[in-house]
Amino acid sequence: MNDFTNGIIQKEANYILGTYPRPSFVLIQGTGLTLVDTDGNNYLDFGSGIAVNALGHSDPEITSVVQEQINQLSHISNLYHSAPQVELAEQLCNFSFADKVFFSNSGAEAVEAALKFARKHARVKHGPGKTGTVAFQGGFHGRTYGSLSVTSREDYQAPFRPLVPDVAFGPYNNIEAAQKLIGPNTCAVIVEPVQGEGGVHVASVEFMKALREQCDKFGALLIVDEIQSGMGRTGKLWAYQHFGIEPDIMTLAKALGGGLPIGATLLTDAVAQTIDAGDHGSTFGGGPVVSRVALVVLKRVSDPSMLNHVATISDYLLEKLTALNSSHIKQIRGLGLMIGIELNIEAKPLLIEGYKQGILLLNAGSNVLRLLPPLIITKEEVDKFIQIMQMILVEDKK
Ligand SMILES: *Cc1c(COP(=O)(O)O)cnc(C)c1O
Repeated sequence: MNDFTNGIIQKEANYILGTYPRPSFVLIQGTGLTLVDTDGNNYLDFGSGIAVNALGHSDPEITSVVQEQINQLSHISNLYHSAPQVELAEQLCNFSFADKVFFSNSGAEAVEAALKFARKHARVKHGPGKTGTVAFQGGFHGRTYGSLSVTSREDYQAPFRPLVPDVAFGPYNNIEAAQKLIGPNTCAVIVEPVQGEGGVHVASVEFMKALREQCDKFGALLIVDEIQSGMGRTGKLWAYQHFGIEPDIMTLAKALGGGLPIGATLLTDAVAQTIDAGDHGSTFGGGPVVSRVALVVLKRVSDPSMLNHVATISDYLLEKLTALNSSHIKQIRGLGLMIGIELNIEAKPLLIEGYKQGILLLNAGSNVLRLLPPLIITKEEVDKFIQIMQMILVEDKK
């Protein structure tokens, strides 16, 4: 480790709030799937900055629209009309179930907006008593008060109680339990079609259909959180398209901004009609620069050739992972390029071994490795990754 690297890490301990345990290198540059640190080491990025860099790092088209837009107009607030924002909303609606969009700056904010809209919808349509929200064990929706309240993680919630009331958690993929929880007092059900942080669990078609039916039966809104699973990650533009259902609200963030911060809450006209001017707001949400970038990302990831590529390369990656035949692998699961490898050992030491071998991996819980590579990953990069996994998981270089 050189003096510059060491200096940054030391200074971080002095000045950055210690909410993140971090490995001991400093990333400074990236191109495609390759990241470089301040000591000149290379890393193959299999996390995409947590499902963000779908087009890899330093994509030339993204770089050029950022430069163009920032030279022209970078911020005006949401007090004024903005062409890039309108274009982006139109495209998001054209490509999905939605009729209207609300923009914010992050996933948690997109979820906050969804929860508020669901409450307002219930209040306008059914009166003040219908305030219950149903969410699922293993789900993750963010760290702000509302989004944390629907995130079933005891360790995340416990220090911050009391939370937003009237939330009930059911077991994921359990239809009978969900049918019992969703009733006349339910205003919304929030679900990830593929749970990300919770260990990469894919919903069953029957479960998603049952949620849709039960919501319809009781006038509750189905909120699909696609902050991680959306934007082509699963081989379809939206993960909900795998399940033969449509939500009332969908939350997006992460990959939509191509590396810049954005959140989007997409809704049907029926919900939108219950929201009035002044009900919600954001200073930065859907600003000109990030909206221009999101238009590029959406155009590229919605291209059928990109979605086919995700499906094909996912099959190739799964085939190679299965062929590893490691005694540490219990199960490989997922959808598209959202893949979980459940291990019979702790995942964290493997992340550290990965750093040494030049690869960035994520975990999802204590014993699941989570793979979220940029969607532009090539066969050669999969082969390189598999070679490293062979060292880490099979030859037991730990
Ligand atoms: C990351 C994530 C969030 C929270 O997004 P932030 O931008 O970190 O606030 C919410 N829901 C899901 C499914 C996520 O993966």
